[in-house]
Amino acid sequence: TTARAEGDAAGPPLPGYVHVYSGKVRDLYAPVDPVTGETDQTRLLLVASDRVSAYDWVLDSLIPDKGAILTQLSLWWFERLADLVPNHVVSTDVPAQVAGRAVLVRRLQMVPVEAIGRAYLTGSGLVEYRERGSVCGVSLPQGLTEASRLPEPIFTPTTKAPIGSHDEAITYEEVVAQVGAATAAQLRRLTTAILARGNEIAAQRGVLIADTKVEFGIEPDGSLVLADEVLTPDSSRFWPASEWVPGRPQRSYDKQFVRDWLTSAESGWDRHGEQPPPALPSSVVEQTRATYVAAYESITGRRFE
Ligand code: ATP
Ligand code: MG
Repeated sequence: TTARAEGDAAGPPLPGYVHVYSGKVRDLYAPVDPVTGETDQTRLLLVASDRVSAYDWVLDSLIPDKGAILTQLSLWWFERLADLVPNHVVSTDVPAQVAGRAVLVRRLQMVPVEAIGRAYLTGSGLVEYRERGSVCGVSLPQGLTEASRLPEPIFTPTTKAPIGSHDEAITYEEVVAQVGAATAAQLRRLTTAILARGNEIAAQRGVLIADTKVEFGIEPDGSLVLADEVLTPDSSRFWPASEWVPGRPQRSYDKQFVRDWLTSAESGWDRHGEQPPPALPSSVVEQTRATYVAAYESITGRRFE
C-alpha cells in the first residue's frame, strides 16, 4: 500500500550492488567488489524509478518511463552546465536491468539545503512575496504578480526536511549559519547561474524555466559538486513560452495532472487527512507520461525512445 515514503524501503535487488537508501523517487545502491565482497564507499548507482510523489505521498501508481526521462534529461543538462559546475556523474555504463534510468555517480556528502532558484514568481515564492514583499529575505520590486519575470534569478533556499515533513524557506543568513559563508556564497552563485543558463538554452526551444531545485554535494577535498538531478520536470517548473501571460497561473510541464486529479472531487481523497491517496486512473497516468515526454522532447529537441 502507499505510505508516506520511508527512507529505507528496500529497493529491488540488483546483483553486484547493495541497496543503501531510497528516496521518494530514486533507489541508491553501492557497488560491491565481486572478488573481495567489499562495498565501494566512493560511488553510488543512482536509479530513478517510475514512482511519482504528490503532496508528500509516494503514490501506488507508476508513470511509465518517468525514471528514464528524468535520468536522460539530467544527463543532457549536466553536459551543458559542465563549464559552470562540476557534476557527480562517473559513468552511464550500468546493469541492463536499469539501463537508461541509472547513472553511476560519485558518492558525496550532501549539503543539507535545497538550493532553489527562481526566475519567475509563482507558488510559495508568490505567497511569501504577497505577505512580505520579499522571498527568503530577498526583497523584490513592487507590483509583481503571478508568473512575473524577476529582474534576475534569485536564490530562495529551503531546509532539506526528512521524507514526510515539509521543507521550510530559510534566509541566506541561515544558510551561512549552516554551511559557512564560503559554501553559502557558492551555492547561491551556482544555483542562479544554473537557472540562468537553463533559461538561455530552453528559450531556444520555447520553454521558460520558472524555478528549479538543485542539490549539491561536497567532495572529500571540500569542493562543491552538482548532484542528484538537474532541470527536470520533477525539480523545476517548465512553462511553454508562447502561452506565458503574467497575472494568471501558467500551464506547466509537470505532474499538475496528478495534483489536480488528487484534489478533485472524483478522487474522493482528503489532502489534509491521514489516508493515503488512491491509485490514479489510467488517463491521468497517460497524460502525466505524455507531459514528461513532451518536456524532454521540447527541451532537448530529441525524440524520446
Ligand atoms: P530525500 O529522500 O533525500 O528526502 P527525495 O525523496 O527527493 O529526497 P530522491 O530523489 O528519491 O530523494 O533520492 C535521491 C537521494 O540521493 C536524495 O537523498 C539525494 O540527496 C541523494 N543523492 C543524490 N546524488 C547523490 C550523490 N552524488 N551522493 C550521495 N547522495 C546523493
Ligand atoms: Mg529528489
